[in-house]
Amino acid sequence: AGVALMALSGCSSRGTTTSSSGAAAGFKAGSTIGVALPDKTSENWVLAGKLFEEGIAKAGFKADVQYAPATNTVSEQQNQITSMTTKGAKVIVIGAKDGSQLGSQVSAAHSAGASVIAYDRLILNTKDVDYYVAYDNEKVGELQGQALLDGMKARFPDAKTYNIELFSGSSDDANAPVFFKGAMKILQPKIDDGTLKVVSGQTDIKQTATAGWLAQNAQTRMDTLLAANYTGSTVLNGVLSPNDTLARAIITSIHAAGKDKPVQPVITGQDSEAASIPLIMTGVQYSTINKDTTKLVAQTIAMIKDLAAGKTPSTNSTDYNNGVKVVPTYLLPPELVTKDNAAESYKNTPSLEALTK
Ligand code: BGC
Repeated sequence: AGVALMALSGCSSRGTTTSSSGAAAGFKAGSTIGVALPDKTSENWVLAGKLFEEGIAKAGFKADVQYAPATNTVSEQQNQITSMTTKGAKVIVIGAKDGSQLGSQVSAAHSAGASVIAYDRLILNTKDVDYYVAYDNEKVGELQGQALLDGMKARFPDAKTYNIELFSGSSDDANAPVFFKGAMKILQPKIDDGTLKVVSGQTDIKQTATAGWLAQNAQTRMDTLLAANYTGSTVLNGVLSPNDTLARAIITSIHAAGKDKPVQPVITGQDSEAASIPLIMTGVQYSTINKDTTKLVAQTIAMIKDLAAGKTPSTNSTDYNNGVKVVPTYLLPPELVTKDNAAESYKNTPSLEALTK
């Protein structure tokens, strides 16, 4: 993950690219498309599996969708990808469990003639990834950082400085350092000028990481942070949470410690999960980020159709260097959700059918 951070933070150029690799001779209707997804810890992954099944079938191909199981997750995902290759999949779409441990599997996939699309999470340190399709991860972090600041200003109008804590995602996920980097772009200057105080002093990504993106790990860390740093009258004004699953765990911890009174701290999130929307409408969670899974799956299926037709899929970003090469990327824009637009943004989620017409 350290390498990932270096590789990803070193590239900032924006631009349009048409890719050179991946568009082979095309393939026939009825061909198998493999989809390897990491886990079911967030709603978006569960939904993605269903949408890929439906969307791939509708596009005229045979879907082979697999989730890595909860134990031996990395090696099981490696086995699933190998088996998709052996069965002759023409495209393998991968939401990586550990983005730095799939080099030999994607190399074998390539040798067998399959194209490899990294879905939502980049695959690192290999030349054998053809495309990346995701929401703009750095922008997600920027929106989270800005929401934390704006929320605290609104909720604590008399405060001149704010006490905060920081959480980041799992270190095996290439997205985690990118989200954190985006957020810190906004927050670091305010930490430096004294407006924000990270009371625990834990600002390094290693200290803030949440292994496996597991709610329990975030809750335990928040319990510890509160017990060590927020006893007595010390106020907690806000927490940077990288997603909704962790936000709800952090909220539970804050509530148990009684630190949601007299004023509920500002907590950010991501994914617009069903369980977080009512919390946002009642102000318990301040914000989330809508990254409509339907659109991301539809974009991936559009790439698959192009590859089948022997065309080079269109991409719109050269921002992602995976440590070995710039991976041609299609980025979608994430959207901030607060109380103001929570109900509307949830209702407006379009159907896959509407998007793949
Ligand atoms: C995804 C997030 C998700 C997290 C945990 C990240 O890679 O981009 O949307 O919340 O994984 O599943």
